[in-house]
Amino acid sequence: MQDLKIYNTLNGDKELFKSINSESVTMYVCGPTVYGEPHLGHARPAITFDILFRYLKELGYKVRYVRNITDVGHLLNDADEGADKIGEKAKALQLEPMEVAHYYTKKYHESMYKLNVDNPSIEPTASGHIIEQIEMIKKIIANGFAYEVNGSVYFDVIKYNQTNNYGILSRRKIEDLMDNSRALDGQSDKKNPVDFALWKQASKEHIMRWPSPWGDGFPGWHIECSTMSCKYLGEEFDIHGGGMDLVFPHHEAEIAQCCAANKKPAAKYWMHNNMITIGGQKMGKSLGNFITLDEFFHGTHEKLHQAYHPMVIRFFLLQAHYRSTIDFSNDALQAAEKGLLRLFNGIKVLNNLKSTGPSSVDISSLKSKCDQAMNDDLNTPIVLSHLFDAVKIVNGAHETKHSLSISDIEVLKKLFNKYVINIFGLHQIEKESSNSDLNSLMKLILEIRSSVKENKNWAMADQIRNGLSKLNIQIKDTKDGSSWDYTK
Ligand code: ZN
Repeated sequence: MQDLKIYNTLNGDKELFKSINSESVTMYVCGPTVYGEPHLGHARPAITFDILFRYLKELGYKVRYVRNITDVGHLLNDADEGADKIGEKAKALQLEPMEVAHYYTKKYHESMYKLNVDNPSIEPTASGHIIEQIEMIKKIIANGFAYEVNGSVYFDVIKYNQTNNYGILSRRKIEDLMDNSRALDGQSDKKNPVDFALWKQASKEHIMRWPSPWGDGFPGWHIECSTMSCKYLGEEFDIHGGGMDLVFPHHEAEIAQCCAANKKPAAKYWMHNNMITIGGQKMGKSLGNFITLDEFFHGTHEKLHQAYHPMVIRFFLLQAHYRSTIDFSNDALQAAEKGLLRLFNGIKVLNNLKSTGPSSVDISSLKSKCDQAMNDDLNTPIVLSHLFDAVKIVNGAHETKHSLSISDIEVLKKLFNKYVINIFGLHQIEKESSNSDLNSLMKLILEIRSSVKENKNWAMADQIRNGLSKLNIQIKDTKDGSSWDYTK
């Protein structure tokens, strides 16, 4: 079905996508650890894989998309020792851990809804699959790739690497990993510092705990994704996605666990979105540039000059290829807002456009150019540049610089509907900040200008028009009166 190419981190190259079952696609994406406000780092993978989800459906596949919620086992600093991220938050707020998880899951869903991210087919939680995780750990022990020490179970990386390749995804060498981890991890129960936890014994203070064959404890962070992906998608499935920061150790460990348990490496294609910077810096609480999605939507963070509509954030992310880094700044977001308004203005103009005869411009290659760019590892910025070429043609036809036939107008409508609405999931926004006030004000100005014209005061009428033009507002005079729009 079509020739979609995607970049597979496993092989470090773009590959022709061929699903295991020709009619359906199975994909798993690592979801959020629900212990804090959703931020841009959550938005990027969610939107990247939402675009893929929508595009695969557009190509005619039946897609089963699983995106998990991590509500247990993810320890501070992504480490094997220490406190649980959710457990710590619960202690600080004097809440049950599940109250924390529930609250932030809800916040995450609200933000995703605003960003028009479609719901995945299944959204399993780690805490809801403890039994399955224990079963998978038992299987790994039975196959000789894990061992128990003091109520904890560790994955035996050295033993695994004798018959498999630990480092197959991240291209890390076991010797380097051993050198790097030795210094950090002194007093652990592990046979070797590169080993990672499948199950951890719960200390007395640890709140989130379950009974297991090895005593009370909780699962490691990596085993949940292996367990839930295999449970809902099978031991072999098509696509596994997530942020680039998850390649090691999380996804490397997932491959090892699945090979150790099932002798199959889980996913065929591993896809990773790149990271986000804010004002050129990595986002971090200590840098004062940690901006939540809600703060973007309401413009309430001190670094933001205004509120940004969720669609502006979505559009902004699509302006970069998902494997490129992307830097958020007020200037870039304001430019994205203008771009989005220009795109939807083009669609509005197109919907009202009447054909004035046969086409005098050739639009035949536009659709195939968009399809080609999308098939080239989801190159959304190139698709957008073709869509803006289409906007120029539409505006040119509106200004009678050239003509478009009835059938070409229909072709363009279908093109915008397919890409802008269905695949990119964008919708029209009102210019934020008291748009209705602006409309009333413009109505008043146009009425004044019309009476100025009736009195034949042409100089004053032109002065009003030129003044507005400097504010990027364009007045159009027609037989039926005047209207206004933003300058294209
Ligand atoms: Zn995961």
